[in-house]
Amino acid sequence: MSIASNLRDIKGSLPEGATLVAVTKYSEQEEIMEAYEAGHRVFGENKVQDLTAKYGAMPKDIEWQFLGHLQRNKVKYIAPFVSLIQACDSERLLAEINKQGAKVNRQIPCLLQVRIAQEESKFGLLPSDLKAMVESGSFANWPFVKVEGVMAMATNTSDNEQVAHEFAIAKEVFDWLKEHSTGANFEVRTLSMGMTQDYKIALSQGANMIRIGSAIFKS
Ligand SMILES: *Cc1c(COP(=O)(O)O)cnc(C)c1O
Repeated sequence: MSIASNLRDIKGSLPEGATLVAVTKYSEQEEIMEAYEAGHRVFGENKVQDLTAKYGAMPKDIEWQFLGHLQRNKVKYIAPFVSLIQACDSERLLAEINKQGAKVNRQIPCLLQVRIAQEESKFGLLPSDLKAMVESGSFANWPFVKVEGVMAMATNTSDNEQVAHEFAIAKEVFDWLKEHSTGANFEVRTLSMGMTQDYKIALSQGANMIRIGSAIFKS
């Protein structure tokens, strides 16, 4: 299989309006260019250094997203160009994104990561904390943050029912956020969930953005 045909197959399984983020963390520029030449434009990385290097080296009409846990002291390196910060998981990180957004005069698109997995190691806001944060009005302090939705990662397990149950919790939080968020900080439209091993389950639970690495670049 080629990168182009992998992309075509996965895009073919998406509902109308859903976005495929091609995750490039295992990929060299040559492979990313193959995806680019096949027409793909939305890519994601989970290391700041790799993201800035690839952004610098590659065509400028690519939308580069940041995917995983983001350290606050590194926000400044990506603030000028990042198209979406996918995993905002604390008030302190949001405050830093706001600060760096102000410096470059950009309202930075963000997703709030909600913790759905039972695994201890996963980052993210508990649904109740996320709701409390929105209801408290904290976001008014962060005019350079634009919340576009919710991101979630399920437990890494072969128990499909458990994965579906976890994704359903994220969908509930997404629906809640759409209904309860107001003001210039919010334009809620994206529910990002699903990776190579579980994206079909994620789509069945309402995801409209999936993040795929291995199934594009390593199969
Ligand atoms: C690596 C990664 C992905 C993609 O994983 P694959 O299993 O290779 O599809 C998606 N989301 C995040 C946050 C990642 O770190």
